Amino acid sequence: MDKKILFTGGAGFIGSHAVKYFVDKFPDYQIVNLDNLTYAGNLENLESVEGASNYTFVKGDICDEAMVRSLFETYHFDSVIHLAAESHVDRSIEDPLAFVHTNIIGTVNLLNICKEFWGDYLDDKLFYHISTDEVYGSLAEGDFFYETTAYDPKSPYSASKASSDHFVRAYSNTYKLPVVVSNCSNNYGPNQFPEKLIPLCIQNIIDHKPLPIYGKGENVRDWLFVHDHITAIDAIFHRGKKGETYNIGGFNEWKNLDLVVLLCKIMDRKLDRQPGTNEALITYVKDRAGHDIRYAIDSTKISETLDWQPSLQFEEGLEKTVDWYLENQEWLDHIKSGAYRINNSNFK
Ligand code: NAD
Repeated sequence: MDKKILFTGGAGFIGSHAVKYFVDKFPDYQIVNLDNLTYAGNLENLESVEGASNYTFVKGDICDEAMVRSLFETYHFDSVIHLAAESHVDRSIEDPLAFVHTNIIGTVNLLNICKEFWGDYLDDKLFYHISTDEVYGSLAEGDFFYETTAYDPKSPYSASKASSDHFVRAYSNTYKLPVVVSNCSNNYGPNQFPEKLIPLCIQNIIDHKPLPIYGKGENVRDWLFVHDHITAIDAIFHRGKKGETYNIGGFNEWKNLDLVVLLCKIMDRKLDRQPGTNEALITYVKDRAGHDIRYAIDSTKISETLDWQPSLQFEEGLEKTVDWYLENQEWLDHIKSGAYRINNSNFK
C-alpha cells in the first residue's frame, strides 16, 4: 500500500531520524519533508536520503497557509506526521511567542488544511501529532504519567505543546478528523542539537569546557534512544487506533547529575583520559526558572497493544551516542562555526 505523507520538522533531531527511517523502510511511500530550517534544522542530517526517489524536501513555515495548501494541492497527502516545533525549554522562557507561533498556530493551520482537503473522505487519512511527556507537568517520587494523567504544563514550551495537543483532540471530536497523539519522554542520540543536555556535555567534554548542571542536578528525566522513538512512531502510524493517545518511554529514569557522571566516565575511557578528568568539569549553575522536578512515563499501553519495546539499555545507547559524536566531529564543527546555516541557506 503506498502512502503520501507530509512530515513536518524533518530536518530537526527526531524528525530527520523519522524521515530517513520511513524513506528507507517504505520505498513505496511518497515522503515530503516540510521544514523552515530554524537554528534547529540542519540539512546535513538528511544527506543519506537527499537523492532518494520517494523523498522531497520543501523549505517552508507550517504557519504559511497558502504554501501548505499548495503542497496539499500538489501532493494529495493522505497522512501528516507532525514534528515541527520550537523544542527547547530555555528558549521558551526567553521568547514564549515564538513557541505560540509554531507550536500552536502552526499546528492549527495544518489541522485546518487537512480538514479542508480531506473533507468527508477520511477512511485512509491520519493526522499524527508528535508530542512530549512535559505536558503532564512535574511528578512526585514513585508516580508515573499515564495517558489519562491530567495536563499540567509548567513551562512556556510545555504549555504550547499542551495547547497543540488539545487542538488536535478538539479537531477529532468536533470535525471527526482522524488523529493520533503520542507523548514521548526525553530523547537522546545522534544529530541532537548541542543545546540539549547530552550533546552539550559531549561537546564540552571534547573541548575541556565546564559541564553546566542546573541547581543540584537532582531533576529526574526518563530517557529514550531516538531510534526507539522512531520504531514507536512506525507502530503508532501503522497500527495505532485513531483517536487514541500513546505514551512512549523506556522506564529509564536518571537524575541529571548521575547521567552526566556516567557520560564523563564513558568519555574518560573513549578519550583515553585519567578517570575523573571529565567529572572535574562539572559546574553547578543557577537553576532554570520553574524547573520541573521529575518526569516518568508509563508506556504499558503501547507495549501491550502495539507490541512495542525499546531496543537498547541506556548505557548502550549512551555509548552509541558518544561514538557517533566522536566520529562526526565535522557535524558538530559546522554547528559551532555556523557553517550548517550557510549550507541550509544554499537550499532554494
Ligand atoms: P528540533 O528542535 O530538533 O527540531 C524541530 C524542527 O522543526 C527543526 O528542523 C525546525 O527547523 C523545524 N521547525 C521549527 N519551526 C518550524 C516552522 N514554523 N515551520 C516548519 N518547520 C519548523 O526538535 P526535536 O527534538 O526533533 O523534536 C521534534 C518533535 O518531537 C517536537 O514536536 C517535540 O515537541 C517532540 N518531542 C521531542 C522530544 C525530545 O526529547 N527532543 C521528546 C518528546 C517529544
